[in-house]
Amino acid sequence: MDLSYILNELGEERVNYFNAIAPPIIQTSNFTFPDVATMRRDMVQEHAVPFYTRGNNPTVQILCKKLAALEGAEEALVLASGSAAIASAVLANVAQGDHIVSVAKPYSWTLRLMRDLLPRFGVTTTFVDGTDVANFEKAIQPNTKVIYLESPNSFTFELQDIAAVARLAKARGIVTMIDNSYSTPIYQQPIKVGIDLTLHSASKYIGGHSDLVAGVICGSEEMIRKIFYSEFMTLGGIISPMNAWLMLRGLRTLPLRLAQSSRSAKMIVEFLEQHPVVRRVYYPFSPSHPQYELAQQQMTGCGGLLTMALHTDRMEVVDAFANSLKRFLLGVSWGGHESLVFPASVTYPTGEAEPGDTNFTLIRLYIGLEETSALLEDLKQALNRINV
Ligand SMILES: *Cc1c(COP(=O)(O)O)cnc(C)c1O
Repeated sequence: MDLSYILNELGEERVNYFNAIAPPIIQTSNFTFPDVATMRRDMVQEHAVPFYTRGNNPTVQILCKKLAALEGAEEALVLASGSAAIASAVLANVAQGDHIVSVAKPYSWTLRLMRDLLPRFGVTTTFVDGTDVANFEKAIQPNTKVIYLESPNSFTFELQDIAAVARLAKARGIVTMIDNSYSTPIYQQPIKVGIDLTLHSASKYIGGHSDLVAGVICGSEEMIRKIFYSEFMTLGGIISPMNAWLMLRGLRTLPLRLAQSSRSAKMIVEFLEQHPVVRRVYYPFSPSHPQYELAQQQMTGCGGLLTMALHTDRMEVVDAFANSLKRFLLGVSWGGHESLVFPASVTYPTGEAEPGDTNFTLIRLYIGLEETSALLEDLKQALNRINV
């Protein structure tokens, strides 16, 4: 199935809605039935037919079909946020006494799930440096049920060898899952190399317009069905039909948006890497990235999220740089149309770091859809103000 067929046709049964190109937003909580026998039949197949919108909604169903096809998965679920998707997928695969091996430094709320919340239910996690597959192997215990990946990692974009970890886990009957938000299914398809579940914050590239929060779980029919009738229906973290419709609209242009974001990011990385006040740039598709080879091997492209570090040991310099950018807006998140700057210095509540801690020099940039030249000019003027 080609990409444009998935984005433009798959799941869209237009004869059911006046042959409209844009699907309808079926803004309803429940559905009605012609007789008791039909209702009885549908009540036990809520995953497949509209019954009540906490389970199944036709607008959301179109979206699920497209997302599953994009990932090369059998089925997909869409949830109210990336965090809801991550928490549901993890919870579905652990029980009291179980153990998780996770890549170190996952997305901050994933870290809280594993470090703070799950121990309350007797589930523990070992965090490992994911750049060496052997670290996963060493951390596996007899009660390990899940290996959790995020490749590239948040903020500094370390990679894990996805295929190697999948092989390792399969041989031991351990479930693997990966947060694939950074690459989207357009640039990385982990299920094809043996990962069980892929997870997304669709608030980023998949939504793509900074107007919704949503999450996705993709996997086999068996695994998705299990999550549907347990965590999904029980915790009830569903997406609204309206937001599903916005995601459908976002998907139409996903490859184009990624291509533009990626093209600009590449030029910006090249510019930053030769600038004298920039100490280092973190970007998987830069030859300076320590795992450049692996990135080329397992990703077919690289989006617009990168991090730079300035040559400075003063937090005021970092803050001033972020303040002086005009086209890069100061904010969290990424994947929308607008370029963003998120300096790590924000995470220091007192505005000061302990001696020796230089993490505050990291500045994450998201490259949006503006003209590359406008973004380069903005970075140039902001860097020129810096005396290091
Ligand atoms: C934003 C983000 C999340 C969380 O997604 P929400 O939709 O905000 O809940 C998870 N993982 C990564 C890599 C993210 O960037």
